[in-house]
Amino acid sequence: MTIERYCFYCGTPLKTVNGSREHFRLVCPNCHAKFYKNPIPAVAALVLKEGKLLLVRRAAPPLEGSWCLPGGFVEAGEDVREALRRELFEETGLHAKEARLVDVISFVNENPEGRGVVIIGYRVGAFEGNPRPGDDAEALRFFPLTELPPIPFSSHVALIEKVKEGRA
Ligand SMILES: [Zn+2]
Repeated sequence: MTIERYCFYCGTPLKTVNGSREHFRLVCPNCHAKFYKNPIPAVAALVLKEGKLLLVRRAAPPLEGSWCLPGGFVEAGEDVREALRRELFEETGLHAKEARLVDVISFVNENPEGRGVVIIGYRVGAFEGNPRPGDDAEALRFFPLTELPPIPFSSHVALIEKVKEGRA
């Protein structure tokens, strides 16, 4: 994740004012502008069909080749639910007709200068279209919930557990 080194307004090198993970931020010693390192919102789609869950195999780093839920980052100026529909379509070719919030999970970056991510999981109750891998996905498949492959993202695993337990 890119970390700004220079002031957006005047170009002066920025200084760290608080190195703690909780309140890491940069300030400009010249014009005193503050730059916050807020976590970045991302969405994940839980698409179920006849008891099977749709997973995509990642075509790009990090963790290229591993299976995970379809999803991605919310774009600037984009509604969160719109981001869910867009990412699902880009990666799987499916149009979400209905999406219900499952849970919101924080991924805290261990690097104090790094941004964390807030993963917003939606269960897609109805969808249209023919599944085909696209964008950052090299393959996709519906897996029985009892026979899922290893998924390296703890936030995705937590969302799947909620659905398996029938709490979402
Ligand atoms: Zn400045």
